[in-house]
Amino acid sequence: MIQKPKGTYDVYGNKGETFIALENVMKALMEKYNYEYVRTPLFESSELFHRGVGETTDIVSKETYDFKDRGDRNMTLRPEGTAGVVRSYVENKMYGNATIPVKTWYYGPMYRYERPQSGRFREFYQFGVEVFGSESPILDAEVISIPVNFYKLLGLKGLKVHINTLGDIESRTNYREALINYFKPHIDTLCEDCKSRFEKNPLRILDCKVDHDLDIMKNAPKIVDYLNEESKAHYESVKKYLEALHIEYIEDPNLVRGLDYYTHTVFEVEASVEGFGSQNVLCGGGRYNGLVEAIGGPATPGVGFAMGLERLLTALEYEHVDLTMNNGIDVYVIPMDNGLEYSIALTNDLRMCGFSTDIDSMSRKLSSNFKQADKLHSKFIILVGEEEVKTNILTVKNNHTKEEYKVKIEDIVDFLDEKLSDDCGCEECNHEN
Ligand code: ATP
Ligand code: MG
Repeated sequence: MIQKPKGTYDVYGNKGETFIALENVMKALMEKYNYEYVRTPLFESSELFHRGVGETTDIVSKETYDFKDRGDRNMTLRPEGTAGVVRSYVENKMYGNATIPVKTWYYGPMYRYERPQSGRFREFYQFGVEVFGSESPILDAEVISIPVNFYKLLGLKGLKVHINTLGDIESRTNYREALINYFKPHIDTLCEDCKSRFEKNPLRILDCKVDHDLDIMKNAPKIVDYLNEESKAHYESVKKYLEALHIEYIEDPNLVRGLDYYTHTVFEVEASVEGFGSQNVLCGGGRYNGLVEAIGGPATPGVGFAMGLERLLTALEYEHVDLTMNNGIDVYVIPMDNGLEYSIALTNDLRMCGFSTDIDSMSRKLSSNFKQADKLHSKFIILVGEEEVKTNILTVKNNHTKEEYKVKIEDIVDFLDEKLSDDCGCEECNHEN
């Protein structure tokens, strides 16, 4: 038996329904926020991620799926969405004629060669947004509000929003200096990864999951003490707007995003449910005022987030949120005698008129067809035999109350519309409503 690749999963049954439900909520929400959908390729030239994500990050240094295509080009399966969206923004000159700020969202699979475990896959789905062209802290707060509102709409409760600021380039540079001076005498007590971070990107030491609990981490210099006036003002505004949005947040001075392009706000949303496990960060993001330029575009501020769908699914399970409808279908059509072609046409017409409809395609006996209608939770059954074809009067059965009706073909749509709009008083309808 050929098996699925390690770190991947199949979607079917309830999980399929849940994913569709999540996608629907996502799309509806992005429409309300007035964000524009963008889609970029699943693979890009490797160079893009080296520049856009950064050589020193775990993602690029250890996790990418790299391959050479048949034309000997270095390609990489996208490990995240931002680099591709920024490339697209620059390549398609979205800054040219668009309304500023340009607000975009994306959704799709990402690929990282990681050790598979709960909440960590090699193919996983991310929903994210990128907003270009404005430095306003209003947008930092708006971007943070999107995952918060998304989770709220889904009915997720145990959430914690962590925020921090990295300041502008000047503040960051000063802070970096301070960290280097602070960690230098302690370098031997840090893990191997941190030793190399010290050389390449000392800020990321603060993000270390191994050394996290060491005292020297807790006592490390804090960015707040290195912020210039402008950076302070930006951060204060973000917090003010979050309060206006009634979003509770926790300030976490050790929260960093490793990349050099991150400036000002960084944030993470964590599932705070007991027993959820260590992969509990549902979503991360921040402002990256240097990224568009790094990818070859004009200096353009940006802010965004990316959230993983798998961890969200687990969080929903933990909180017993069930998004599956299992509403069943509206109509089940049973062809009899010479009614097959008529039934096929009727099924097609009903589907096109908006009714979820299925048809017996297995020439079942009438009794097993009734059972099938029950299994499909069909609300109505339409029987089509010789008589119905001849007279154009259909035999319609309410599958809940078992009442039977004779309905002219030209009245069937109105009939179903009316009957489906109010429940028939039976237990099943009451239950569904
Ligand atoms: P982590 O610290 O958990 O590795 P990260 O910093 O690598 O996360 P980001 O690159 O910021 O994560 O991605 C944003 C979100 O995407 C994460 O918060 C998480 O929900 C999800 N995510 C990241 N990597 C994976 C993965 N391998 N499998 C499933 N979800 C993932
Ligand atoms: Mg990671």
